[in-house]
Amino acid sequence: MHELSVATSIVKIVQQEVNKIKGKTVLELYLEIGKLSGVEMDSFYFVWPQCINGNVLAQTKLFVEEPIGRARCAECETEFHIEKTFDSCPNCNSPFKEIISGKELKIKKIIIK
Ligand SMILES: [Zn+2]
Repeated sequence: MHELSVATSIVKIVQQEVNKIKGKTVLELYLEIGKLSGVEMDSFYFVWPQCINGNVLAQTKLFVEEPIGRARCAECETEFHIEKTFDSCPNCNSPFKEIISGKELKIKKIIIK
């Protein structure tokens, strides 16, 4: 499952950060997981408790921002909302566009004690 490997690698990265500064536990974790990142949030929240069980993240308050998909058309420069990466421009129907937001998959902030 994709979400399990995403959650596992987040835990691994956070653990490394905690080790670096010899912290004990993580109080808060801020993630950014865009609507176009391919991560299904229901599945993510389902696997998350298994991934943090017994490690530095066990007591962590998790905050997840989910930026919506935004794109700019390469033909007419219209900015529009997209649900899927292959959505076309609503103005001229062109499939060519630059994705401005929604593909984020990153750790924004870790608060370590
Ligand atoms: Zn267009």
